Amino acid sequence: MIRAKRDRQRLSDGQIDWVVDAYTRGVVADEQMSALAMAILLNGMDRPEIARWTNAMIASGERMDFSQLRGPDGGVKPTADKHSTGGVGDKITLPLAPLVAVYGVAVPQLSGRGLGHTGGTLDKLEAIPGWQANLSNEAMMDQLSSLGAVICAAGSGLAPADKKLYALRDVTGTVEAIPLIASSIMSKKIAEGTGTLVLDVKCGSGAFMKTESDALELARTMVDLGRDAGVNTSALLTDMDTPLGLTAGNAIEVAESVEVLAGGGPADVVELTVELARRMLAGAGITGVDPAEALADGRAMDVWRRMITAQGGDADAPMATARESHVVTAGESGVLTRLDAMAVGLAAWRLGAGRARKEDPVQDAAGVRLHAKPGDSVQAGQPLLTLLTDTPEQFDRALSALEGSHSIAPAGSAEAASFVPRPLIIDRID
Ligand code: URA
Repeated sequence: MIRAKRDRQRLSDGQIDWVVDAYTRGVVADEQMSALAMAILLNGMDRPEIARWTNAMIASGERMDFSQLRGPDGGVKPTADKHSTGGVGDKITLPLAPLVAVYGVAVPQLSGRGLGHTGGTLDKLEAIPGWQANLSNEAMMDQLSSLGAVICAAGSGLAPADKKLYALRDVTGTVEAIPLIASSIMSKKIAEGTGTLVLDVKCGSGAFMKTESDALELARTMVDLGRDAGVNTSALLTDMDTPLGLTAGNAIEVAESVEVLAGGGPADVVELTVELARRMLAGAGITGVDPAEALADGRAMDVWRRMITAQGGDADAPMATARESHVVTAGESGVLTRLDAMAVGLAAWRLGAGRARKEDPVQDAAGVRLHAKPGDSVQAGQPLLTLLTDTPEQFDRALSALEGSHSIAPAGSAEAASFVPRPLIIDRID
């Protein structure tokens, strides 16, 4: 199989079923699977191969079933979920899950921890004192019935083949392969059993997909896989050249999400939250509502508070604050034309917001606060970024990640006058 893929041949259904199963059972060794993953990264797989690979990973574990969930009228409660391919400052799940639940749709948001420069939803929520990520299947179902929203750790039973393979890809330079990303994400989402799925495919420096054409190909592949499996799937392509919102970290991202739930917050976070909510609701058959209203009038905040309390968290407890901070200022006056998401993500990671190995702890309070976004006018000497950490010896490494991370078009220049930032929502697959 390794030789076949190296030589650009198709893998047969039987070969794919065998290798995914044999690798999960430990019969195929890590070094063989990493060679095959690299051959797939370099030479690709066609759609039928990707579909078969996805099904083989689903078959490696259990499938969840939400068909027993009932609404207040006794009818089946629709389910909707969203998945982001990962970015810097992407806290959208936090306001989105309670917002969608307001309208009677159940949102089973099985999430993970961060590795590398992108943060993990569970790491962010664990910055809330007392909050517990691990729920039994029974507790998850109870919470979905009573509150409609749950954000918790995905159990080890869902697509165990992907768990093993993703950990291997992470350390062998084979994450950024469209067939492997699509099958990894969709095997988990299909096994999870949601009725509607909205994908947020990130595109730009801080994303796996750097170009719009690659992001579109990934989005199309995942939408096809979802639809073929009977999941009502659509996708947005969104910008990840710039971090989302004004924070990248854990506690500071929770605080920003709470601002959104209180009817405020940065415009880009609100725009994406509302657009994803509208799509999830439409997929679940609910149209003619404006999700922005449930952010403005406190209904989404009510569900959020109940959701945090149900998982042991104290929604009113003060969040951790960093012991040390360092401010990066603008070197000249003008218009900020670039603030690189990857550089900000790396800086937040080095400050302690992320982990290098999956067993490492993260600092709740570490991260980067943004004071300007592309398109904003800035004055020389004004703060651009505040770096936050409990371990100030990390500042030098964070600052080196930020070298060359932003550009300012001088005030009065033609570039400053004509600069228009890339729109947040780049494309849609309906
Ligand atoms: N997220 C996943 O779950 N899998 C990938 O391969 C990439 C991102």
